[in-house]
Amino acid sequence: MNIFVLLKRTFDTEEKITIANGQIMEDDAEFIINPYDEYAIEEAIRVRDEHGGEVHVMTVGDEEAEKQLRTALAMGADRATLINIADDLDETDAFSISKIIGEFLKDKEVDLILAGNVAIDGGSGQIGPRVADILNIPYVTTITKLVIEGEKVTVTKDVEGDSEMIETKLPLLVTAQQGLNDPRYPSLPGIMKAKKKPLDELELDDLDLEEDVEVKTETIERFLPPKKEAGRILQGDLQDQVKELGALLNKVL
Ligand SMILES: Cc1cc2nc3c(=O)[nH]c(=O)nc-3n(C[C@H](O)[C@H](O)[C@H](O)COP(=O)(O)OP(=O)(O)OC[C@H]3O[C@@H](n4cnc5c(N)ncnc54)[C@H](O)[C@@H]3O)c2cc1C
Repeated sequence: MNIFVLLKRTFDTEEKITIANGQIMEDDAEFIINPYDEYAIEEAIRVRDEHGGEVHVMTVGDEEAEKQLRTALAMGADRATLINIADDLDETDAFSISKIIGEFLKDKEVDLILAGNVAIDGGSGQIGPRVADILNIPYVTTITKLVIEGEKVTVTKDVEGDSEMIETKLPLLVTAQQGLNDPRYPSLPGIMKAKKKPLDELELDDLDLEEDVEVKTETIERFLPPKKEAGRILQGDLQDQVKELGALLNKVL
């Protein structure tokens, strides 16, 4: 089975984000595999171990993303591809990233594609469905269980806390939701083996992009949420406190 995982390198969720001149400052920030993509990698490895085949993990990014790809290889993926856009594109959006991934996958034998439900930084949740659309294959988002029997696939999908069971078939794209599995940590032998696994680097010129990948959207402004004001404890006589609370609530409503 040919299994592909779409991986995004994101900020560590523990990072304190700073913005200067409308740009997110990356200096000294820690980067990780998007946490939802860890579920995708883990599931891909389990499917491969059960059904045979190969797990190919890929990302669109710059050379810094090699580290996250090596981590995925250390977890157990078989090969990796970095599509390095650093020299070619000044700006990207969901359209351009999906287009590049779609172009990369278009001529490949694909049985199963796993992506994260959402990237914790960009947060659009668009890449998976857009890629499936480009490849003209079915997709199911926010999955918490995946059972493959021959070509038949039974998927459990999280619907805001409830579950929906969906039957579909390969080739298929799914996006991973928390609870799908418990992603493994790379083992020491896994880290050693990962150094020898193939990690290909491509540039846009290597893809047969017939249409351009110019962005369709423009980010006009980036800003942090306003600082939370400190809470206030009302003081004094209870009746006065109730009156004051009422007045405060009236102001808000
Ligand atoms: C090198 C680089 C430069 C960028 N420059 C800009 C910029 O100039 N302006 C701007 O507004 N935005 C920029 N972005 C952000 C980019 O446009 C978004 O990453 C893209 O639109 C995806 O949207 P999202 O983050 O909401 O992903 P979502 O759709 O929320 O991600 C869902 C899933 O899709 C997959 N996925 C997402 N991104 C990638 C990827 N790059 N490679 C492989 N799989 C992926 C993962 O499985 C992920 O879990 C840049 C991103 C990168 C990697």
